[in-house]
Amino acid sequence: MLVDVRPELSVVVPMFNEEDVLPLFVERLRPVLDEMGVAYEVVCVDDGSADATAVLLQRYRRDWDQLRVVRLRANSGHQAAISAGLARARGDWMVTIDADLQDPPEVIAEMLETGKREHVDVIYGVRTDRSTDTRFKRTTAEGFYKVMNKLGAQGAMNAGDFRMMSRATVDAVLALPEQNRVLRLAVPTLGFPSSEVGYKREQRAAGESKYPLSKMLKLTLDSITGVSHAPLRFATWFGLAGFVIAFAVMLFAIISKLSGHSITGWASTIVIISVFGAFQLLCLGILGEYVGRMYTSLQARPTHYIAYDSLETSEANREF
Ligand code: UDP
Ligand code: MG
Repeated sequence: MLVDVRPELSVVVPMFNEEDVLPLFVERLRPVLDEMGVAYEVVCVDDGSADATAVLLQRYRRDWDQLRVVRLRANSGHQAAISAGLARARGDWMVTIDADLQDPPEVIAEMLETGKREHVDVIYGVRTDRSTDTRFKRTTAEGFYKVMNKLGAQGAMNAGDFRMMSRATVDAVLALPEQNRVLRLAVPTLGFPSSEVGYKREQRAAGESKYPLSKMLKLTLDSITGVSHAPLRFATWFGLAGFVIAFAVMLFAIISKLSGHSITGWASTIVIISVFGAFQLLCLGILGEYVGRMYTSLQARPTHYIAYDSLETSEANREF
């Protein structure tokens, strides 16, 4: 029987095609949670997986009462999957963790202890050691956090989405009107009392990364445009610099004309046209990102649709 009272802890796990790692994950997570001695639920958000993830989850649910499955109708992305899970989780504390065992489940106990001891609302899991990540991942991640901090984002360097939050924090984050919110940036902006727990980022236990370059780029663009409009000012500075250069070129052209060298200059013309063309396109692109963000938020379309929540199906249907 799934406990009807609100559990103390909800573990929210986004999963997209994780059939390879799921058995290892369950095997490692369950003893950790059972030993913590608190009432818990595990909310697995199946982000529209096309492999055996859904079937496996149903199977595990048979002998793990605290396991709850929320399935999204279509693949909606890591951030949307986490938000979906948080919106449905019932715990006083909620922790989000990846399914691939890169975030060690053992740290959850430490997070809960820290939260209670220090009376804070958010406990960030901070990667103190990422030596097992690929060089590409590490460099791009480092660049990401540096740029974000420069743009004024608060929050710890190297804090991903492994974090524990109080219910008040989750309610506050979910109430933000933003579409495509990037949780690792939205949570620190609240400024709620927080603490950190360090951990070693492990290697993905099985399967492939579900974060191709295209998804990484989307996350980066959502992060930048969600945090700051500094890039728009950047475009203004570009425009001003272009104006100064244009003025110098104009002077040069007049002087050439007056001194009788007006035929030459084909190369410089081409260069100037292409440089300015590039500037303009870049500025238009930056502008477009923000207009696009406004457009998306005006449309206010849901970021995901729930197909199924095991908590809401009757006991009679449980066996499928
Ligand atoms: N994930 C998801 N939806 C997606 C992509 C990823 O729910 O569209 C989940 C994935 O199953 C995993 C977590 O998000 O639990 C992090 O993804 P992954 O480990 O592939 O990313 P990486 O660690 O390589 O950045
Ligand atoms: Mg991973």
